[in-house]
Amino acid sequence: MNGRNFKINIAHLYPKLLNIYGDWGNVLTIKKRCEWRNIEVTIDSIDINDTIDIKKYDFYFLGGGQDQQQIAVAKELQKHKSSLQDARDEKAVFLAICGGYQLLGHYYQPHNGEKLQGISLLDAYTIAGDKRFIGNVTAKCDYMIPNTLVGFENHSGLTYLQGETEPMATVKIGNGNNGKDKTEGARYENVFGTYLHGSFLPKNPHFADYLISLALKKRYKEEIKLITIDSELENLAHQSLVNKKY
Ligand code: GLN
Repeated sequence: MNGRNFKINIAHLYPKLLNIYGDWGNVLTIKKRCEWRNIEVTIDSIDINDTIDIKKYDFYFLGGGQDQQQIAVAKELQKHKSSLQDARDEKAVFLAICGGYQLLGHYYQPHNGEKLQGISLLDAYTIAGDKRFIGNVTAKCDYMIPNTLVGFENHSGLTYLQGETEPMATVKIGNGNNGKDKTEGARYENVFGTYLHGSFLPKNPHFADYLISLALKKRYKEEIKLITIDSELENLAHQSLVNKKY
């Protein structure tokens, strides 16, 4: 873009443990939508016992996972709590899906077993509910054009937001955070959590581009306008779910 060479460095956190429902597709979407704009992308898989160099990374991704995998990741994340909070404060972009999202709050209390401590990037907490929310979700997101987000939810966790942590969107169809307050997902600074699997970003290209812009701004400390790329198929997939009659 305008002759300059841009790049973003992505840390994919614990992909061997948190990667259900093809959540890896979110990282792939960021990678491809950058490469189609000649933005270089590096992706490092961060596994158990790996170090995390927060000076390197502009974008962190955590996928979803069942309670068992969350136990192992929750324990590991505690080692990096302070440095990942620093990364948040330095405007790094985080996208966490479902099980990964739950661990970015203060805690996740599963049905059985001990409470899992989160790393408090979000002022939120999650308690396992008595039923699973499974199905398509359509949500309204006022800072997006189009102002809709779509995805698929499958969770029993009920997430409640507090303080300055805002919902990512408002549920129109489906359950979202807890099936009660019509909130879906969470945002604080550039930390985003959502219950939308699918995977989420391929069918929400406008949101993928928004995250890319935020990651570039974190790295280069300036707004960098993304060139428009052909997203016809992605937008058709998005609109087909927005128009779906339930
Ligand atoms: N185990 C968590 C729950 O059931 C997260 C599940 C997921 O990541 N889809 O709420």
